[in-house]
Amino acid sequence: MLWLISRCAASEARPTTKEASHEPRRRASPLSTRPWLERWPGVCCLSAAVTTLLALLLSTAPWPAPDTQLHVLRLPPLASRIRIAVDAGHGAPGNTGNWGCHCQREADETLVEAMELSRRLRRFGFTVLETRTTEEGTKYPARIAAIERFKPHLVVSLHTDARADAWPIETHPDGGVCFANRSDPGFSVLWSEEGARSVVRARETWGRAVSEALREAGFLPYSGDDYGSLYKTDAAPACFVDARPMKQRVYFLRATSVAPVVIVETHHALDPLEVARWHDADTHDAFAAAIASAALKVVEQR
Ligand SMILES: [Zn+2]
Repeated sequence: MLWLISRCAASEARPTTKEASHEPRRRASPLSTRPWLERWPGVCCLSAAVTTLLALLLSTAPWPAPDTQLHVLRLPPLASRIRIAVDAGHGAPGNTGNWGCHCQREADETLVEAMELSRRLRRFGFTVLETRTTEEGTKYPARIAAIERFKPHLVVSLHTDARADAWPIETHPDGGVCFANRSDPGFSVLWSEEGARSVVRARETWGRAVSEALREAGFLPYSGDDYGSLYKTDAAPACFVDARPMKQRVYFLRATSVAPVVIVETHHALDPLEVARWHDADTHDAFAAAIASAALKVVEQR
């Protein structure tokens, strides 16, 4: 029911800004606006009511509702020969990424996510390189160099999205205002199609395997509605290819060539429910097992 109330509140509120401290490359595009919802908020509520009734009948509500169960995928015994580089997105000097619904910084969230993921992957038996372990991390060229020296089989960089329009949700004592958008939760997987065909194929294989494992674990695939022309939609759900003008393309996706690199936008930083789920150990357990499962399929075909 909390889910129903929050969805309706989101549709009835009027946006006061389209910027909302978004990460610059995630700004709302015209494709992401939903004027019919703004004119007819009751349609959303009616639709949400029906959805919620069905969800109640099934004794569950969609992700990221608090009672939605994630699954920790079962893993076969692992050998430590698989090397994976885990990048905590942003955190280079002057680069903190987006601001979420509690004014949390993307760089801080991804640092926690990367540390949680790395710890679990090591426990599974992987050999892990963490490219950033502090709040003020190294610059990206140094991270790329470290990855090149590590010679990983796979690289994953963790980020969060700040999608579409947002509404004020919190005012802090210092006068700062945080913005929220309870629509558009879910994960996405991004990669670049620049470079040799074999390299691009390896990224596709890794990215699609990650998406499949995350969906199998119960994470919600993001539709990509707000990406507009920034990304091309891949054949697999929640998978997207960087399609910005050449000089604006994501540096990290282009710069590492020794292993397939993907970015996982783990969740929508403006969605309070999804943010709360990502502060839950169960979510990190399910996420890490999904990444491990995908890595095993890609590297060892099992
Ligand atoms: Zn980011």
